Amino acid sequence: MNWHAAGQFPVYRPRRLRQSPVLRRLVSETQLSADHLVLPLFVRSGRRTRRPIAAMPGVFQLSPDELVRTAAQAHQAGVPAVLLFGIPDTKDDRASGAYASQGIVQRAVRLLKREVPQLLVITDVCLCEYMAHGHCGIVQRTEAGARVLNDPTLKLLARTAASHAEAGADIVAPSDMMDGRVGAIRQQLDKLGFTEMPILSYAAKFASAFYGPFREAAESAPKFGDRRSYQMDPPNAAEALREVALDLQEGADIVMVKPALAYLDIIYRVKTQFGYPTAAYAVSAEHAMIRAAAANGWIDERAVTLESLLAMRRAGADILITYAAAEAARWLKAG
Ligand SMILES: [Zn+2]
Repeated sequence: MNWHAAGQFPVYRPRRLRQSPVLRRLVSETQLSADHLVLPLFVRSGRRTRRPIAAMPGVFQLSPDELVRTAAQAHQAGVPAVLLFGIPDTKDDRASGAYASQGIVQRAVRLLKREVPQLLVITDVCLCEYMAHGHCGIVQRTEAGARVLNDPTLKLLARTAASHAEAGADIVAPSDMMDGRVGAIRQQLDKLGFTEMPILSYAAKFASAFYGPFREAAESAPKFGDRRSYQMDPPNAAEALREVALDLQEGADIVMVKPALAYLDIIYRVKTQFGYPTAAYAVSAEHAMIRAAAANGWIDERAVTLESLLAMRRAGADILITYAAAEAARWLKAG
């Protein structure tokens, strides 16, 4: 932009275009609509069960029947897509539940596609919820401690993504942050004939303290150590761009930045640099902080939620993954 072409006071008065709502809307640079929203949902086996998650008010672990009910209500409100996480009955050291054809996510996908066919079903592809140790990959224990092995994990991730595709998922979303996993998944999907299955990669996923409440929701807290050897280090922005470039080269169709609000600079740089469809994940603590402050009467929940989502859009995000998706869709509809 050429700032010399901008007018100067008193000839130019920016307040002229702020005089009425209709005028402000006319010159609004960023639109927020329900079309961009994705609602994350947690499914576990059972019937008529909605298990509350203490640190995420309004979010539940849902039995499949309740999952369908919640997903249908969100879809009715205008939310076009859900992102599915599974909580299996049993865990082991091979994450067998992640790629079982009758696994919790695979069953839930079939059910959702049958009961709410117009709803896009995105599946989180990872192993942590299914591993007894809670890490996102195969763990090798040594005298010096434990290591998460990269290359052997890729096979299991590819198998998991393929099982989601076979169940009827619309998009698979690998969240593990192993190197090379997008390529491994693309190859496996193509080999099985799923050449049209889009991959939404968690490309720049930071090792963030904002994930705290989620670990309770997905029951995926690591039993030892942390995820800093595979998730990104929060100070690094240039590295985030390299991660995104790698995932795009390996076949990602959509790239994600996670968390969202504390990483708007990364969203902006990813969108500006690559121009690919970009998703922002407003993570559990972002949601929890707004809910907690609103419950205390300190902030206006509706206004703060919508302004936060707008900020992600303004930074360049096309897709907004948020626990407030259904409420936001209703608020946006009400105008
Ligand atoms: Zn994981």
